[in-house]
Amino acid sequence: MEQTVSMTAPARRARVRSRATRPGTGSRAVRAALVLGVVVVLGMWWLTVPAGFAATPANALTSVGELSGMVGGFLVCVQVLLIARVPWFENAVGLDRLVSWHRSLGASVLFLIIVHVLFLVFGGELADKNPPWDEFISILQSYPDMLTALVGTIAFLVVGLSSARLIRTKLSYEVWYWLHVTTYVSIFLTFLHQLSGGAHFVAQPINRVIWIALYLGTAAAVLTWRFILPTLDAWRGRMRVAAVVPESDGVNSVWLTGPRVQELGVRAGNFLLFRFLAWGHLGTAHPYSVSAVPADGYLRITVGEIGDHSRRLPALKPGSLVFAEGPFGRFTADRASRPHVVLIAGGAGIGPIRALAEELVRRGAQPVVLYRARSPRHLALLGELQAMPGVTVVPLVGRRSELGYDPLDVEPLRHLIPDLHNWEAFICGPEGMGERAEASLRALRMPKRFIHREELSMS
Ligand SMILES: Cc1cc2nc3c(=O)[nH]c(=O)nc-3n(C[C@H](O)[C@H](O)[C@H](O)COP(=O)(O)OP(=O)(O)OC[C@H]3O[C@@H](n4cnc5c(N)ncnc54)[C@H](O)[C@@H]3O)c2cc1C
Repeated sequence: MEQTVSMTAPARRARVRSRATRPGTGSRAVRAALVLGVVVVLGMWWLTVPAGFAATPANALTSVGELSGMVGGFLVCVQVLLIARVPWFENAVGLDRLVSWHRSLGASVLFLIIVHVLFLVFGGELADKNPPWDEFISILQSYPDMLTALVGTIAFLVVGLSSARLIRTKLSYEVWYWLHVTTYVSIFLTFLHQLSGGAHFVAQPINRVIWIALYLGTAAAVLTWRFILPTLDAWRGRMRVAAVVPESDGVNSVWLTGPRVQELGVRAGNFLLFRFLAWGHLGTAHPYSVSAVPADGYLRITVGEIGDHSRRLPALKPGSLVFAEGPFGRFTADRASRPHVVLIAGGAGIGPIRALAEELVRRGAQPVVLYRARSPRHLALLGELQAMPGVTVVPLVGRRSELGYDPLDVEPLRHLIPDLHNWEAFICGPEGMGERAEASLRALRMPKRFIHREELSMS
């Protein structure tokens, strides 16, 4: 290893981040709201639970079953709200973390639903001295809206299982996505039995009002921010493909233009959800980060060919209509608060890193870009980065097996930038690369709060 990045003159301090985007506060507020919501649900249960709710094993099982159903019903709404693109949540937490919270809550919701069903069946079995299967059938027949609830519950379980890593990796994104969309129907199907048969709702007007408000509010948020506003915005901003430009082996840039491109408020490091209105692209919207922020009415994304959608992008015709939703994301330059910034990119991560480099220079920083690629043919946008005044680019080329080491390991990084612990890092690239780079930076004593990482996956 011969390279060492020299920083002779200290770079000017990158402009400190704005208060609005300071991480932590907003995300704590969202978490506090969630905890408060659970406390309210516990209160709703506690205030309407009958005396003797735990007097016998049968009563205790039934009470736990009811409670888990209520908490599960609340958390399902939270899960939906987290990914409903509610601007306050998005600004406070960032869509990528909201998606990860949504995913983490999924396991708890599934667990609560299973506990709900099992405990009610076993509680009833003990009380009525019925075998479990007979009790299950009896519950289905004696309470209103139970068949729809059963269908909804089975659908929930299927969606939950489809997200388990083992199964998820075997499904195409589109199948997984459309299975998830059925969750809205499942929520509706299971909602009915809560109001018509739920012991804590049937004759409890306050609980009913709170529950109806929760579900209606959730539905209104989804309709407003996931469907109506994005569709209106996308239609008003009608973007079109201006050109598709090959950048390197398997990487293409798509230039987009439209009457309102400049007004989108896109910042370097942001991503948008793009739905190309062309054959083979209609199934789902795909997230891509901007590799050049809007200027002169154009914005650019740079896309690595990995699957059916991204491979078809080069065939897009100029003039094709594109619906874009966003911008989203908090991988932005205003989070930089240290004078020295290192940008670590690999694969498709070079798009957002290139945009960030430009923005950081504009803010007075002199970023160093460590650009990991398996061969020189995979260094998309290299010339552009090298031509940026104030940016130092260090290509780290070669497979680990050829090099005999990983250039993003602790020692190679320490060799490149000896005082790396005093720097701030933005990392974007394949998951393995990101994890390794982050681990090395942590081993070099860079505090976690100065390491910003963008995952190029939301599933
Ligand atoms: C925040 C973010 C920013 C991104 N920025 C870029 C970028 O600038 N350049 C780039 O090349 N790639 C980027 N990606 C990755 C890009 O979205 C996927 O590579 C692309 O959607 C793959 O689609 P495919 O059909 O070609 O591949 P597939 O083989 O169908 O999918 C490969 C993987 O991509 C993910 N994926 C597929 N479709 C979607 C979808 N509709 N929505 C979300 N994830 C999906 C899934 O994890 C899937 O396992 C970004 C991803 C995220 C989450």
